[in-house]
Amino acid sequence: MKKNIRSLSKEDLRQFFISQKEKPFRGDQVYEWLWKKSVYDFNEMTNIPLSLRNQLADNFAVNKSTIHTHQQSNDGTLKNVLKLCDGNIVEFVIIPKDNRNTLCISSQVGCSLNCKFCATAKLKRIRNLEYFEIYDQVILAQKQSQEYFNKPISNIVFMGMGEPLMNYENLLIAIQKITQEEGLGLSHKRITVSTSGIPHTIKKVADQSVKFNLAVSLHSAIQEKREKIMPFSKKFNLESLLVSLQYWYSKTKTKITFEYIVFKNINDTIEDINALVSYCKKIPCKVNIIEYNPIGDDEFLQASSEITDLYVKKLNQADISATIRKSRGKDIDAACGQLANKVQKNAS
Ligand code: SAH
Repeated sequence: MKKNIRSLSKEDLRQFFISQKEKPFRGDQVYEWLWKKSVYDFNEMTNIPLSLRNQLADNFAVNKSTIHTHQQSNDGTLKNVLKLCDGNIVEFVIIPKDNRNTLCISSQVGCSLNCKFCATAKLKRIRNLEYFEIYDQVILAQKQSQEYFNKPISNIVFMGMGEPLMNYENLLIAIQKITQEEGLGLSHKRITVSTSGIPHTIKKVADQSVKFNLAVSLHSAIQEKREKIMPFSKKFNLESLLVSLQYWYSKTKTKITFEYIVFKNINDTIEDINALVSYCKKIPCKVNIIEYNPIGDDEFLQASSEITDLYVKKLNQADISATIRKSRGKDIDAACGQLANKVQKNAS
């Protein structure tokens, strides 16, 4: 089997040309075609002599992902099913709004965490995405965004399928390639990684040079309640999460965003609100109250707007910024927590 050329670093590419008794700068040129211009057909690499293009084709393949199907919501949201080289699929979503065009991407096929209210959790974890598969979502979304909305992607959120911090090595390389000048050159300030909260990895990524905004899916600031809806958090409790977030803040000086769903009869009491307010006071943060998107069982229901309004009021009174976020793309199962491989079997 031919080697996947995108698994090579720039230095590896230079070494390849040296081994072929060619000039190493050819490696820089190929790297630019791959990562800056997203050109994957060796014949389109026009500043590379034909004989070398043939050599590349003899030695390498480009394992690129393709759009399997896509669907548009009544509100404009575009959901795509991405088919990976091995036939697995993940989803990515473009959410157009005013002057923004937010891209929501996946980091794993399935997910290893078992948040009770999330459709992706029902798939279990199949595998991590490679960094070039994360990158492919951005490349394909850029094209689609121009076609449908006549403007580029403005923001990227890792809020699709999977837990990004359980795949942080590929995550960091992908973000590096998305942000670096030799790649897509997007500002790191426009990238948000959403995590369920893996304290030791939060600390680890805080120490890295790759930058991004961090969002944490909190959903309860009371340990016993959080464990019930997010069982993995027995291992990663709220206290150690807080310590890791304080470390993150000390290193990055960027506020954390907490994502929070208010579920009926689960976290809709004043005691829940008070617990959240006191948790938030310990770390520079803002809160996004997100709407619950049904995933086809009756276990969870969205709480009333009186209680979500009360959350916002109490947080604001404590000088913590809080907003209620309406869902997008619900009619096509493209909203937060609804992404699942419904067509997994048909895709391969
Ligand atoms: N694993 C990461 C990223 C994927 S989930 C994380 O947990 O943050 C992206 C966001 O959707 C998270 O905030 C998650 O809690 C939320 N979510 C999951 N299921 C949902 C549902 N049914 N309705 C609304 N939001 C949901």
